[in-house]
Amino acid sequence: MLAGDRVNLLGLPRPELESFVAQRLGAKPFRARQLMHWIYRRGAADFAEMTDLAKDFRAQLAAVAGISVPQIVTEQRSADGTRKWMLRMDAVQGIETVFIPEPGRGTLCISSQVGCAMDCSFCATAQQGFNRNLTVAEIVGQVWLAQRELRSGGASAGRVITNVVFMGMGEPLANYRNVLPAMRIFLDDLGYDLSRRRVTLSTSGLVPQIHKLAEECNVALAVSLHAPNDELRNELVPINRKHPIDELLAACWHYLDKQNGRSVTFEYVMLDGVNDQREHARQLAKLLRGHPAKVNLIPFNSFPGTRYSCSPAAAIVGFRDVLNEHGVIATIRKTRGDDIEAACGQLAGRVTNRATVRLGQRLPIAPAEVP
Ligand code: SAH
Repeated sequence: MLAGDRVNLLGLPRPELESFVAQRLGAKPFRARQLMHWIYRRGAADFAEMTDLAKDFRAQLAAVAGISVPQIVTEQRSADGTRKWMLRMDAVQGIETVFIPEPGRGTLCISSQVGCAMDCSFCATAQQGFNRNLTVAEIVGQVWLAQRELRSGGASAGRVITNVVFMGMGEPLANYRNVLPAMRIFLDDLGYDLSRRRVTLSTSGLVPQIHKLAEECNVALAVSLHAPNDELRNELVPINRKHPIDELLAACWHYLDKQNGRSVTFEYVMLDGVNDQREHARQLAKLLRGHPAKVNLIPFNSFPGTRYSCSPAAAIVGFRDVLNEHGVIATIRKTRGDDIEAACGQLAGRVTNRATVRLGQRLPIAPAEVP
């Protein structure tokens, strides 16, 4: 948080930064470009580091603006190189961000909300309930911070994060207002300069917002389908009761048409005895065949208190083969970071469920517990 009414430049959309620089500081527009370069490319959080800006200008900036970045509460490292940070959002709330290194690429999995209200029955974040949306600065700040940490570990000053995926905590399309400007900074050549295929928004299926996104932004779309029929999907992904599968798929094809996209990735979590039968694979193939779709099968990652278990490896391979035989491309997602609870659906952070607080129950986390 910044003292007084100083403006946080982290996450400020480019047009707003340009008018801030021009109107509040009476400076030329290229100053905004210099600032973006320092903040995102160089990872600066202090105007004093910005040595190609005049001293007077830096002092003027420091009086009215700042660069406020999230703070790390804890960091965990997996045996497979995956790193997970818990970031402090305020005195009580924490969210999680995960970095997954792979040969030739580094994927950062970011959160969009403190908790989640979608209530998917197989997801650990859902169990925490929902607290609030993240701000643009808090979303962009996850990339800023991960880049700093990765570089300080001896990584080159070049690009260490090649892909950003909204697959952490929260439903990004339920926080559309802040997720959209954050994505623009990821794509901006003066921001993180990622190509549109390297920024992935994953959604549980908020149909009206998919239509809106189709008009406004161009990123890769992933959809958490998890079931091949409405009856089963209603149970696993309750938002399906509002926006059933046929509406959801129509929105996906519309998005691809509008954005000239190649394909939509459909995520499908493999739950033993629930959605993993060959008949489910045949139904799924029927839905997707002939469309620009890829299926990504996710082995279920367990967490305390869940009633589900992961399908046996043979069932997952069999499921993939049925899809492939029916002309639908399917792959199996490699589980990463499960020894530090950093795998899909395991992120829990520190969430004070608003609903619980309203009911006057004890807070799950006392403020004093946060170091
Ligand atoms: N709200 C977004 C992002 C969620 S996390 C969405 O629903 O797409 C990214 C993926 O992990 C989603 O496909 C989600 O359904 C999946 N997931 C959730 N819990 C999981 C679990 N326990 N095991 C495996 N995948 C899970």
